[in-house]
Amino acid sequence: MSSAISHRETKTLPSIETTPINNFRGPNGELCVVSIGWHVDGEAGVIATDAKATHHVAALSEGAYGVSTAIPRILEMHRALEIPSSFFIPGYVADLHPDAVEAVVNAEHEVAHHGYMHENCFYLSESEQQDVFQKGIQSLQHITGKAPVGWSAPGWGVTPETLKLLCEFGMIYDASLMEYDNPYWVTTESGPLVELPISMILDDWEIFGASPVAGGGINATAETAFQIWKEEFDGMRRFGGFFSPTFHPNLMGRPGRLNMLYRLFEYMRSFDDVWWATCEDVARYVQATTSPPAHANTATGTRL
Ligand SMILES: [Zn+2]
Repeated sequence: MSSAISHRETKTLPSIETTPINNFRGPNGELCVVSIGWHVDGEAGVIATDAKATHHVAALSEGAYGVSTAIPRILEMHRALEIPSSFFIPGYVADLHPDAVEAVVNAEHEVAHHGYMHENCFYLSESEQQDVFQKGIQSLQHITGKAPVGWSAPGWGVTPETLKLLCEFGMIYDASLMEYDNPYWVTTESGPLVELPISMILDDWEIFGASPVAGGGINATAETAFQIWKEEFDGMRRFGGFFSPTFHPNLMGRPGRLNMLYRLFEYMRSFDDVWWATCEDVARYVQATTSPPAHANTATGTRL
């Protein structure tokens, strides 16, 4: 990777250092680790796209569908298949739908940070990001009684300040970057973070993304997604990898797609060489079994 970066670019790149974990395996030697991430964007996703959408009742209702209609049937699927998951919930959505957040907690899934109004941190100053993290933590903690320990980036917008702030707010993992197939360490000025990598290929927005304010279209059948995600899962069982899909309840909670997801998960559950865990569980496992680099200057990873 470094050979592709010019000297000039390297000098201007931020001081974030990444360190892979060699031969990463689950607790029982599993090559493939699965963490399901639900991004409950709800009304916040709509308003973050267009601030005027606070009056766009149809668009807001599409966002609300993901919480009101989809979450109950998603929780039922997780219960039936005995699959843990992590729900990344903007503080604004949690404030609007505390019952839904409580249902997630009562089902013993993880509730994690996803901004307050689904802000894209790439466009925010450090102090603006600080406000977002603080407000999001307050909202979630008020309902769940526990501060979130991880975050996933709305719109995949991350700056070096974002990662530093995650450490400063006591979070232990980020789930937004994409450099490696498996969890790795990210070293910031304020300490180390476990990175739980996502991938665009496992992001349902890339296949199904559509909303009255963001645009997009219905680009594929559920069967297309099944094929893509099954291929990726099969590849990870062979080569090793962290299968961490990003699902939006308003997209994947549609009846036809959730029907497909049952089939995909039933297929994936048929193998006993896979570890299923929440993002928090994986991050704590990484912390317990590997060490972060002593400090950024001595790490052997690559600079972002
Ligand atoms: Zn989101």
